[in-house]
Amino acid sequence: PPEPPANESSAASSKSAGSDAVLDDADSRKARQLNIAASFSKLCRALWCGAFASVSPAGILTAVGRYAAGSAFEGGQEQQDAQEFLLFLLDGMHEDLNRRSTGKAFESSLASLEVNSVESTAPGQQQHQEDLEASLAWRVHRQTNDSIVVDLFQGQLKSTLTCQHCQHSSVTYEAFMYCSVPVVDNFDCSLNDCLEAFLQPEQLTGACQWLCPACHSRQDATKQLDVWRLPPCLLVHLKRFCGYDGGKKISSLVKFPVAGLDLDRFCRNQALKSNRRVYNLYGVCNHYGRADCGHYTAACLNAPTNQWHCFDDDQVSKIEPDNVVSAAAYILFYRQQS
Ligand SMILES: [Zn+2]
Repeated sequence: PPEPPANESSAASSKSAGSDAVLDDADSRKARQLNIAASFSKLCRALWCGAFASVSPAGILTAVGRYAAGSAFEGGQEQQDAQEFLLFLLDGMHEDLNRRSTGKAFESSLASLEVNSVESTAPGQQQHQEDLEASLAWRVHRQTNDSIVVDLFQGQLKSTLTCQHCQHSSVTYEAFMYCSVPVVDNFDCSLNDCLEAFLQPEQLTGACQWLCPACHSRQDATKQLDVWRLPPCLLVHLKRFCGYDGGKKISSLVKFPVAGLDLDRFCRNQALKSNRRVYNLYGVCNHYGRADCGHYTAACLNAPTNQWHCFDDDQVSKIEPDNVVSAAAYILFYRQQS
C-alpha cells in the first residue's frame, strides 16, 4: 500500500539532534522542530483521506527516531516498547507545538514545585491551602509548558512524603502524562483495582530511604500519590512488564469499562469532585506474546460512526465493543465524557 510521498526536509535530517555535537540544546531543538508534529499531521491526513487501504507510518517512526537520538528508538527500525514510544511521540509533539518559546521538555525542574509541608490546620483551611499550592504549581508548570499536548493529556498528582521517624511531610505537585498502574500476576482484576493499587502508600526503605529535611538524615518514609487534576484525555499504562529488565510479562486480564469509567472516587481535590469525572474509552494498544518477542495491534473507535476497528499491521477489521476488552490490553486511551 502506498505511503504518501515522504517529504522530510533533508536539511533537518542532516542536522539530526545528537549526531552533531556542535549544536547546543536550543539549536538542536530548533533543528528538529516540527518534525514530529508535521509527520503526525501528514499521517493523520493520509489515514482520513479515504484513498489508502492502509498507510505505513514510516515517516513518523523516522521523526521520533531522530527526536529520540541516543535512545533505543534511534533509527526507528527495531520494535520497542509502545509505552516508551508514545512518551517520545507526545514529548516531541509538545516541544514542536509549545506556545512558549523558552519551553523545555517535561523533565524540566519546573514540572514539579515542592512546597513546604502543610501545617496541620483546620480541615477546611488545609484544603484551601492545598488548592492554592496545587494551582500555583500548575501555573508555574504552564508558564514553560503550554501546548495542545499539555491541554489534552496532562494532569496533576499530589505526592506526599512522610518521614516515619519524625512525621515531617513534604508535598510536591507534579504534572503527569499517564497513569502507570500495577497489574497483579495470575489473577483477573478490574481497572479500579489497578488504580487503587497505584494510589496505595508506598514504603520507602533500604536503598530507597528518604533524606528527611527535618532529621537531616536518611529515614524510612511513605510516599502517597493523590490524583489532583485529571486531564481531558487520560492515558492508562498497564504495567505488564516487570522484573529487573522488564523481561517478564504479566498476562492477567484487567477488566476495564468501554464506557463510563468514573474516576470521582480517585480524585482527592474537593473542588474537582463537584463535577463528575467520567471517561469513555476510545483506543487500546494491545500486546501479544512475550516480553522479548511480541506483536502489537490497536483497537480504535471511529467517533463519527461509533464503530470499533481492530488495526493489525495492514489489516483493518470491524469489531464489537465486547472484543475490545482482552488480556492483551497494554495502554488504554480514555477521554472525558462531554
Ligand atoms: Zn524526619
